[in-house]
Amino acid sequence: MTHVIGLRCVLCGREEPPESGRMVCARCGDDGTLDVEYDLGEARRALTRESLDADRDRSIWRYRALLPVSGGEARLPLRVGGTPLVPAERLARALGLGALHVKDDGRMPSASLKDRASAVAVALAAEAGARAVACASTGNAASSLATLSAAAGMRSVIFLPEAAPLAKLAQLLAHGADLVRVRAGYDTAFDLAARATVEHGFYPRNTGTNPYLSEGKKTVALEIAEDMRGHAPDRVYVGAGDGCIFGSLYKGFREMVAIGLLDRVPALVGVQAEGAAPLARAFVSGGRPEPIEPSTIADSISVGRPRDWAKALRAARASGGAIRTVADAEIIDAVRVLAREAGIFAEPAGAAGFAGLVADRREGRCPEGAAAVVIVTGSGLKDPGAVARFAAAPEPIAPETRAVETRLAELGLA
Ligand SMILES: *Cc1c(COP(=O)(O)O)cnc(C)c1O
Ligand SMILES: [Zn+2]
Repeated sequence: MTHVIGLRCVLCGREEPPESGRMVCARCGDDGTLDVEYDLGEARRALTRESLDADRDRSIWRYRALLPVSGGEARLPLRVGGTPLVPAERLARALGLGALHVKDDGRMPSASLKDRASAVAVALAAEAGARAVACASTGNAASSLATLSAAAGMRSVIFLPEAAPLAKLAQLLAHGADLVRVRAGYDTAFDLAARATVEHGFYPRNTGTNPYLSEGKKTVALEIAEDMRGHAPDRVYVGAGDGCIFGSLYKGFREMVAIGLLDRVPALVGVQAEGAAPLARAFVSGGRPEPIEPSTIADSISVGRPRDWAKALRAARASGGAIRTVADAEIIDAVRVLAREAGIFAEPAGAAGFAGLVADRREGRCPEGAAAVVIVTGSGLKDPGAVARFAAAPEPIAPETRAVETRLAELGLA
């Protein structure tokens, strides 16, 4: 890995040599997630405003100098990254914000932000000569891995708990993933996957222990910084489950500041559902997250034992941000408002960030006139059933002009 100079434990600061192959701190165990470190002087020379403007590669690989890959990315023909940062002026006015942009990662190859991590996993698996990449997931991590593995001509071994959402399962089946369905819940599937991955030499796409996955996810921050031409927004909002996306935002923004491409790190706000909020509780209490039995309609952030908590808490504290909660009803309302006022259809977890912004404005935690960015992490087509909570198809009318006129009058369009 040419650009990586070291790995460092987020909790105790101990250095772990990349050659050791260890993915968590030898002293702190699974809680001691690692930061990947680069030669930032070299990155500063490689990534300048001019070089980026001239680079026609819109994928995440344009930031190669800040990524742990060394050639394996060539295996991936699909473009991962370069998603639009959409100005939402009507919403900004309605919320009393100076500016609002929506980073729409629903428009990724597999329709979620997880592709940023899977792309790095597939590239590193190719470099390691692994036969297959493995993960345990019910949701977007799995469908993303299946999609990108298929594109790269690699096998993906996916450990599925019994209950898996239909649209995401459809992606796994369509892309021909090697499915291991386990008659148990997620945590059991996770442990079985971890063991099989080591025993069979699969490459682990395992959020919370593989430090290289958050390197992929941080590219969403690199893109926001670049798209805003180096002027950070005041606040950035995103949904948080394991906390990997949220934690990686901090690292991405901080690196952009370090290489001179961003003026400051924005306040970062992670948003959890009330029924799945161990990170938000730990943010308030100052301790470690207590495991809970999660319950929320937003399946992608329904996490009871967040595995990337150390990086998530650091992101909130070091950026002057927070980790907050919103009710499921607020998440559903956020899906509706984003779809209708910005034209962006998000799955519930994908709209949680926006729900958090709305709640922060109402409670005065986000000042009037602030510039905000919300990240939509997954497409609404992932969970079409959620729409039934705020809209229903109308009764069919008789096939006659009179009935059409009546219906248009009902709609106020006659
Ligand atoms: C995975 C996921 C999240 C949460 O990411 P974490 O890294 O687990 O916090 C949010 N939204 C969507 C759509 C996701 O797939
Ligand atoms: Zn440690």
